[in-house]
Amino acid sequence: MITHSLGFPRMGLARELKTALEARFAGTLDAAGLARVAADLRLRHWRLQAAAGIDLVPVGDFSLYDHMLDLAVLFGVVPARYGHAGGPADEALYWRMARGEAGTDGRVTALEMTKWFDTNYHYLVPEFEPDQSFALVGTTILDEAAQARAAGFTPKAVLPGPVTFLMLGACAGEPFDRLALLPRLLPAYSQLLAKLAETCPWIELDEPVLCQDLPADALAPCRAAWTALAEAAAPARLLLAAPYGSLAHNLDFVRDLPVGALHIDLVRDPSQLALAAKALAPETALSLGLIDGRNIWRVDAAAALSRIALAAERLGPRRLMLAPSCSLLHCPVDLEAETDLDPEIQSWMAFAVQKCREVRLLADAAAPSGAGRPEVADALAENRRAWESRRASPRLADAAVRRRTAAVSQDMFHRPAAFAARAPLQAEALQLPLIPTTTIGSFPQTPEIRQTRAKFRRGELAAAAYEAFVRGQVAEAVARQEALGLDVLVHGEPERNDMVEFFGEKLAGFCFTRNGWVQSYGSRCVKPPVIYGDVSRPGPMTIGLAVFAQSLTDKPVKGMLTGPSTILAWSFVRDDQPREVTRRQIALAVRDEVADLEAQGIRVIQIDEPGLREGLPLRRRDWETSLALAVDDFRLAAAVAKAETQIHTHMCYADFDEIVPEVAAMDADVISVEASRSRMAPLAAFARDGYPNAIGPGLYDIHSPRVPSAEEMEDLLRRAAALIDPARLWANPDCGLKTRAWDEVTPSLANMVAAARRLRAQLAGQGL
Ligand code: GLN
Ligand code: ZN
Repeated sequence: MITHSLGFPRMGLARELKTALEARFAGTLDAAGLARVAADLRLRHWRLQAAAGIDLVPVGDFSLYDHMLDLAVLFGVVPARYGHAGGPADEALYWRMARGEAGTDGRVTALEMTKWFDTNYHYLVPEFEPDQSFALVGTTILDEAAQARAAGFTPKAVLPGPVTFLMLGACAGEPFDRLALLPRLLPAYSQLLAKLAETCPWIELDEPVLCQDLPADALAPCRAAWTALAEAAAPARLLLAAPYGSLAHNLDFVRDLPVGALHIDLVRDPSQLALAAKALAPETALSLGLIDGRNIWRVDAAAALSRIALAAERLGPRRLMLAPSCSLLHCPVDLEAETDLDPEIQSWMAFAVQKCREVRLLADAAAPSGAGRPEVADALAENRRAWESRRASPRLADAAVRRRTAAVSQDMFHRPAAFAARAPLQAEALQLPLIPTTTIGSFPQTPEIRQTRAKFRRGELAAAAYEAFVRGQVAEAVARQEALGLDVLVHGEPERNDMVEFFGEKLAGFCFTRNGWVQSYGSRCVKPPVIYGDVSRPGPMTIGLAVFAQSLTDKPVKGMLTGPSTILAWSFVRDDQPREVTRRQIALAVRDEVADLEAQGIRVIQIDEPGLREGLPLRRRDWETSLALAVDDFRLAAAVAKAETQIHTHMCYADFDEIVPEVAAMDADVISVEASRSRMAPLAAFARDGYPNAIGPGLYDIHSPRVPSAEEMEDLLRRAAALIDPARLWANPDCGLKTRAWDEVTPSLANMVAAARRLRAQLAGQGL
């Protein structure tokens, strides 16, 4: 059984790539220096994988910034705004496409960035013209394959397939059928594959769109494309991979396809094994994705081996390959680098290196007489012990949490009154003007704040001194907001490094890694918390600072919480129970916090859910159930509040077009959404679907250092007021302001307040 990997984390154990990229961006490292760091990392990662027992090491999975960007550049897909004359892209062009760097012709925007399937990895969206031409103008992946070959490895080239490349792209102007570009794209792919075949015995095309809904009329062109590419790749064998979901509904796309192998994600859908096995052409191998590439838990070797046995029975052992379910990009590098984890919990985990070893172990154990080999038998026994310890561990189950979730009753999902009845009570309690102004929660995390928090974490600053510092920051934030004339204030979140980590640290059932970094986009990494056991709230999490901030002002201060779906989406979640069970527990913990905030005099509470949309399944038809459950958990968290208490939510950088009814069902009194770049586009969907509650459209882009004028924001507000009844309209920025500096934020917010006041005055003149 050949073992392979679909990709390895790019950053390096010590985030060497991040450091090098930042130095390159700052101009302290030259291009050759960056290329050296990249080449070293690739070599190190191939060594790690090969040493763990991976037969085919991936090339092409590495990228300086993003693999979709690399492919666009490789095929000369460069939007007109970059003024590129064709031919190979130089380094400057690459960064301008990635980051919108200033070029000779002024500032150009970067390619749009969006989430890669249902992961928290963001890719750069290629833009296609209806008459787009494609040519192989680069050599990156070819050079990497040559590097791997020269270093003595057996490389497998890995790249997104043509259907995924086109479907995940955007249309440069008016929408058109991007798949119609397939015939133009194929010659460039064919040429690339033929060249790769000189160094790589296998070439993997990732087509995760196979797990989504593909239009029926795409069947023939997709099959023709893959068939042609399998020919172009010869003598290399083509591996068609469908990670991140199930392709059970799209089997006709792959049935009897003359490819070398088909890779399926058996973590996401174990039941597709038998179906996929039946759909294979006689010469085609099946690659079993049995090790979870998306999570940090050890494989259950016994369960995986029984799947392998089933597959071997159907296809014979020689037609099987073994791999993680998807690229290990979404996993931290090496568990052995963790020094602070509880040893018992650590024994349940596997990071990328360990996952490669697990692939090897399963392959060895499944080989004839393999399980009889002492080292294999030992490793299997050790795996079983770890699983037994995990299943039996008293740290997983908390009887009180179980009793509580079982006792959740229908009335707990409902506010005491409907929005129409709540709104006047809140107006009475809060005394807000028309079009109230507010912010999304965080204020600039100044170098001083970051350094002080880091000192406190390292133990160099006593808790009392740190607390005093944080309170000073909160007091300053309140004073600034009062001076700006904002209507609903926030405490500014100076104590929070990350909106999920902060809550994870206060909840039971979570633990934290030291080095568990995962690439989010480009040079940005996140360190998701790990949820290993039942979740509960040992005590208040945000009350102290909220109450302190409220004590400083007569204006209402918004309590600031992260919602259950977002905490779930941005953590490594336990895999021994359905995700929904875990989220329900989180929802109850958030509910307790809402109740406490209210009891302590906080009259406005925001529950952020920016991660709700991305947690949706790959297929549209599975959304309904999934969304309903997510909405229920938001409601469970919020509905404990009295009618007079105003509940806000915030969602951003998500496509609302198809989910407005569900967002309405969350029944938040006010929702804030990002809307400035698209000049209020989301409001059209809200208006069309008759969204009933209040909305705060984002009036300024928090990703840009630019200060928008009052006129500009007034204009946006007028557009908003044309779509949404001004009585239900708020004014706020797109998102939190933590990445900005005060010298941008202060004038921007002053202009925002001025814009709201002008429209307010005008509407008052009209008798509103
Ligand atoms: N309250 C958070 C903040 O202001 C919300 C961030 C987000 O939506 N990602 O930072
Ligand atoms: Zn946001």
